[in-house]
Amino acid sequence: MAKIQMKTPLVEMDGDEMTRILWQMIKDELLIPYIDLKTEYYDLGLEHRNETDDQVTVDSAEATKKYGVAVKCATITPNAARMTEYNLKEMWKSPNGTIRAALDGTVFRAPIQVKGIEPCVKNWEKPITLARHAYGDVYKNTEIKVPGAGKAELVFTGEDGQEIRKTIQEFEGSGIIQGIHNMDKSIESFARACFSYALDIKQDLWFATKDTISKIYDHNFKDIFQDIFDKEYKEKFDAAGIEYFYTLIDDAVARVMKAKGGFIWACKNYDGDVMSDMVSSACGSLAMMTSVLVSPDGVYEYEAAHGTVQRHYYKHLNGEETSTNSVATIFAWSGALRKRGELDNIPELCEFADKLEKATLGTIESGKMTKDLTQITSLKEVTALNSEQFIKAIRETLEGMM
Ligand code: NAP
Ligand code: MG
Repeated sequence: MAKIQMKTPLVEMDGDEMTRILWQMIKDELLIPYIDLKTEYYDLGLEHRNETDDQVTVDSAEATKKYGVAVKCATITPNAARMTEYNLKEMWKSPNGTIRAALDGTVFRAPIQVKGIEPCVKNWEKPITLARHAYGDVYKNTEIKVPGAGKAELVFTGEDGQEIRKTIQEFEGSGIIQGIHNMDKSIESFARACFSYALDIKQDLWFATKDTISKIYDHNFKDIFQDIFDKEYKEKFDAAGIEYFYTLIDDAVARVMKAKGGFIWACKNYDGDVMSDMVSSACGSLAMMTSVLVSPDGVYEYEAAHGTVQRHYYKHLNGEETSTNSVATIFAWSGALRKRGELDNIPELCEFADKLEKATLGTIESGKMTKDLTQITSLKEVTALNSEQFIKAIRETLEGMM
């Protein structure tokens, strides 16, 4: 059978540890036999980031802007222990942070649902995609531990000398204060990324904050979303038969629990942090979560939501068998290939992405899975496979579909 031809290369960002091992297996077993795989390769493995003074990460983000679609392997974010382990020149920043900043993007995460791994919330028939604003609020706060009685004020001094001053609290004793901020420009990008992504996957978009209490701060988020929706997206949403609606965060939580799924839930930074962990743990496993970074102008970077699975990697280095789940990494590839197929008008590539996902889920549904899933499945007859056997089993299912 002739291999599927590609037009534009995918930006390929290789990574670290166990996921780097899976990366190569996925390419060898599931992609290269079927596709004349065109990629522009960037090695974001920590050694190479260190050699290039992290320039490779910046270059890969620039390439993503140029070509429009990237697929990324999980990477190590260095900490003190990694400094010694890899003999690093510097504690390089998180590659995801660098790429997110370069693309001004929003991260969308969704569980991969499959028969046999049911969400704890029984009525969630379809995945709930979480969109988390990745800038500001409590993640960029300034805090003071108030030592004793006194007055706390919020002061803004404009470049033109204008001053705005409000009393936060007249303290009678010790306490705490916190200053947080956000920027209209960042909220606008977040809103546009959410609306574009909703149109892209044709799902309703929910957005929720606490504007009844936070009458200026949260209300500003609500107004910006509504304004951009009315001016730029309303007609497109009508045409696509999808809906945007705003509600209070506590109402959203109540509705989410009763909902069937199949929508996007946009959250402020903190809410998104908490709610994405809730949705993913309710759906079983971090290894069954997709993650895609979308820029407001429609550039896409696909990856798995989990890290480099360090513990499994050390076992692998010791020559021990590992049973690491490759599903999220496979879905990162299928997501990127499908998007490339859509943009370049290569229907065979989109069909292949669909088949690869079907084969992956079909393999699990037939009872063949990695150990993280055998522990939580409701299927009765299951076989626990090692990392390599699982990928080979998917290959077999895929062959059967060709
Ligand atoms: P992790 O790689 O997400 O793994 C944490 C634990 O979750 C694993 O030890 C494993 O549990 C389970 N797990 C995660 N993915 C799995 C998979 N595919 N198959 C089976 N089990 C899986 O987090 P970490 O080990 O704490 O972090 C390792 C490195 O990843 C860190 O250096 C961190 O900086 C980096 N990281 C990168 C990204 C990214 O690039 N997007 C995201 C998060 C973390 P058991 O050990 O119990 O089997
Ligand atoms: Mg969290």
